[in-house]
Amino acid sequence: MWQDFDILIVGAGLSGAVLAERYAAIGKKILVLEKRDHIGGNCYDEVNSAGIRVSRYGAHLFHTNDEEVNTYIHRFGEWVPYEHRVLSKVSRTYVPLPVNIHTVNKLFKTDIQTPDEMQCWLDEHQVTYPHQPRTSEELGLSRFGRVLYQKLFLPYTQKQWERHPKHLDASVIGRIPLRLSTDDRYFTDKYQYLPKHGYTSFFEKMLRHPRIKVMLNSDYFDLKEQIEQSNQERRTSRGSSNHPFEKIFYTGPIDQFFEFQQKLGSTLEYRSLRFEPEWYELPSRKTFWQPAAVINYPSLRVPFTRTVEYKHLTQVVDPGIAHQRRTLVIKEYSISHGEPYYPVPNARNQSLYEDYRRHAEQLSQEGIYFVGRLANYKYFNMDQAIKNALELFHQLEGRVHTEKDVYYA
Ligand code: UDP
Repeated sequence: MWQDFDILIVGAGLSGAVLAERYAAIGKKILVLEKRDHIGGNCYDEVNSAGIRVSRYGAHLFHTNDEEVNTYIHRFGEWVPYEHRVLSKVSRTYVPLPVNIHTVNKLFKTDIQTPDEMQCWLDEHQVTYPHQPRTSEELGLSRFGRVLYQKLFLPYTQKQWERHPKHLDASVIGRIPLRLSTDDRYFTDKYQYLPKHGYTSFFEKMLRHPRIKVMLNSDYFDLKEQIEQSNQERRTSRGSSNHPFEKIFYTGPIDQFFEFQQKLGSTLEYRSLRFEPEWYELPSRKTFWQPAAVINYPSLRVPFTRTVEYKHLTQVVDPGIAHQRRTLVIKEYSISHGEPYYPVPNARNQSLYEDYRRHAEQLSQEGIYFVGRLANYKYFNMDQAIKNALELFHQLEGRVHTEKDVYYA
């Protein structure tokens, strides 16, 4: 049966789905192995009994400036414009995040009115270094100044990553910009949307193709031996590779791949999340439980990092949900064990990853490629994951024009 397919993809998340879709479009037969019982990776969502769409692995907000990615996603269902806003709760006060003029005014009872005044306030507080910020601590202190860093970033980061920001790459806190204006949008990208029918439907559309077969509940590592054994017939025609496929795309954690081959001993660190759902009955004068879709809790006295009230998000695509009296709020706890969600960007992990990457690169001679957040050990946003998979496809196959391929037309 393995011989019936040209391409094997391990993982039905974003990277796997994009590659499956692209390869099917150029006539290849694709097998996708997914160890979970559903497609969509961590973007997977479903509608609950109250009609609220909930992401099983935490809220996903799509945003991009990339024209190619934007065109690509629109081939797989409707997207509804949505600009995400986040509030951070400091003591009893909600302040906008990213930091803007209102954040400073609310926290420090200032009366900043203009970008110039905001810049003056920052000039008094920002810490300067003779070099580019190397750690998240340096980045936080130099971008936001000590008082904001200590209130909004230091404790939150400690909770999220279970380490001091000085032990994290600058890129982590660097994800959060600073605004000299009153703009309170979480992202300023040109394109920001929610999928009208949810992320799962978006994945279904990508993977629905006569040449794509998805096998759920199928762990690649359980099947690996079987796959390799079935290679005898194809071995001669496929050169020296140890598998019967033209190409394999692996999207799981890169160190797991090599542990099974027992080539390298050390494991990379990942952070995981635990979700605690809470239902609330809203009083008739209230539409929502909390004032924004996401509330961050920087205080170390609060054990969770943020809460998500999904009704805010569902309402964008289904305004009728506003009348729903029940609402679901999910508390998000950061944990060190469990399903890997985030790579932990720091010097130790980066150098270990480089070792793995060198081994991974050699495997490309056998047609094995590593792609995605876990296999590339990169803190990709959704659009970056899509872009990365598209670029790998272009690199391997060229910029092909396929039948009905509006996207490339
Ligand atoms: N961060 C913070 N305080 C906040 C929000 C974010 O210190 O209120 C830091 C924290 O280290 C976090 C990083 O910025 O991990 C990136 O935040 P983002 O919202 O992008 O995280 P994600 O949504 O990817 O979990």
